[in-house]
Amino acid sequence: MTDKTVASICPECDTKIRFNEGPGLGAFVRCPECNTTLEVVRTAPLKLGWAFEEPFDEEEGYRVRRRN
Ligand SMILES: [Zn+2]
Repeated sequence: MTDKTVASICPECDTKIRFNEGPGLGAFVRCPECNTTLEVVRTAPLKLGWAFEEPFDEEEGYRVRRRN
């Protein structure tokens, strides 16, 4: 039997986050422990990073950047 469960560590609180199967690159997950939104930055091995860009924030950030 092959266990397809994969796990990675939350960069914020070091909690081990498990997935039933490997999430896709760029997928967003929420840490159940610290509620931080994380993004899959690498799939093999699975690595999570902070998700700085949320869909609706992107436009806002762009507008701010243009103003500078
Ligand atoms: Zn966390």
